[in-house]
Amino acid sequence: MNSKRGNRVAVVGGGLVGCVHALFLAKRGFDVTVIERRGDPRRENLYAGKSINLALSHRGLTALSKLGLDKIALSIATPMRGRMMHDETGNLTYQPYGINNEAIYSIGRIELNRVLIDAAEPMPNIRFLFNRKVNYVNVYERLIAGYDEVKKEDFSDTYDYIFGSDGAYSVVRQALMKTDRFNFSQSYLDHGYKELRIPPADGGGHRIDPNALHIWPRGKYMLIALANIDGSFTCTLFMPFSGDPGFDRIKDAQQLESFFKANFPDALDLMPNLLEDYFENPTSSLITIRCQPWNYKNNVMLIGDASHAIVPFYGQGMNSGFEDCNEFDKLLKKYNGELSEEMFAEFSASRIPNTNAIAEMAVENYLEMRDGTANPMFLLRKRIEHKMASKYPDQWIPKYSLVTFSNASYSKAQAIGRKQARIMDKIMLHSKIEEIWDSPEIENEILELVSSS
Ligand code: FAD
Repeated sequence: MNSKRGNRVAVVGGGLVGCVHALFLAKRGFDVTVIERRGDPRRENLYAGKSINLALSHRGLTALSKLGLDKIALSIATPMRGRMMHDETGNLTYQPYGINNEAIYSIGRIELNRVLIDAAEPMPNIRFLFNRKVNYVNVYERLIAGYDEVKKEDFSDTYDYIFGSDGAYSVVRQALMKTDRFNFSQSYLDHGYKELRIPPADGGGHRIDPNALHIWPRGKYMLIALANIDGSFTCTLFMPFSGDPGFDRIKDAQQLESFFKANFPDALDLMPNLLEDYFENPTSSLITIRCQPWNYKNNVMLIGDASHAIVPFYGQGMNSGFEDCNEFDKLLKKYNGELSEEMFAEFSASRIPNTNAIAEMAVENYLEMRDGTANPMFLLRKRIEHKMASKYPDQWIPKYSLVTFSNASYSKAQAIGRKQARIMDKIMLHSKIEEIWDSPEIENEILELVSSS
């Protein structure tokens, strides 16, 4: 613990990453105050009519298991062991995610948030200040000021350390932007997303296989669906904001119905509330944010989306944020529990290349999901890779597995993925690849390329 300063820590933003970080810090003995703009998710229905779910995978589970919370998280999650692709006529193609039957887990955002707050509640050294919107952070004085929505009055306080886990549009990051040599970039995709819903079957249960992530890939746009434990699915339509196709082209019920009939006929049959969902739910944007450094001395540190918001196509935003917390904790241990300036700088410098790598891979995966998964050559390529991975698990670990089912650094996963892509590009040029992919000839060629590159 820092002997010169006290141990009062503010965590701005009590979302998923803020709560996990608060739990790690409290376990190391810090006195943690979580300041959250919204109400307590255990008492308020924050997403009335909306159930946003996320894919939790190995990195996120690693952090949760350190907090002893992996089992309870898994108890409210649905395993998804592969992608189920739906073509325009409703034909299905299944692709397992892992070579050893591994799964990613669909989990409700609010349900997970509640689990984390419940875990914090009995700890005497964490307190949550809900309904407090932070409007101002002074990084030099370590001062936080804002507005208390319940008492209808301003508040301000100083802390020994401030962590900003207040998401992609972070107020804490805005304060860091005024410091010298702070780099920042943001970029939006041309595509947005809208959440829709498949309700449970009439007698309860799921209308389609809950143990797969469903994808309706259509080139320039796609629909996906993840199961909820109540029998429903949360669907997300990703599409350009404007153009053909585009959200701006669907203006009334008739246009909506004909669009779904033509493109997602089997999904349309499962969505009795499509009309209300489509026109009542917002169309939201997809942003990538990078900044550097994430800290100002050892006064302020960003974590989670506040420092590295990424597009959701690798299902790694929350997982990478949980990994931030775990890596921070490991470093804190190395520094004997002292939140020193050196430690803050090391954390920022070591995480940024990795979060940049997953940001890039997430955008690449968007192209793969919407274009590739509908392409027969892509599916063949995946089958060849899958065969290689099953037969030679030490030599060929697919990039997807490294990112999703391991704790290998994102930079390493990206580098290995690039090498594998170069090899597969060469193999796929084979003139008779479709006929001979299952032959020892191709296998030997791949093995030679693996060992020579
Ligand atoms: P947030 O979840 O944004 O939480 C920030 C918190 O700070 C909120 O509670 C907010 O109310 C609070 N706050 C904000 N401003 C203030 C303020 N001024 N004062 C006080 N409090 C404030 N990730 C995955 O790992 N897997 C997935 O499958 C996945 N799917 C996704 C699908 C979509 C469509 C999107 C958009 C994202 C997805 N993500 C996924 C990413 C994931 O949602 C984020 O990475 C994750 O929520 C980041 O958590 P966070 O706590 O850093 O930020």
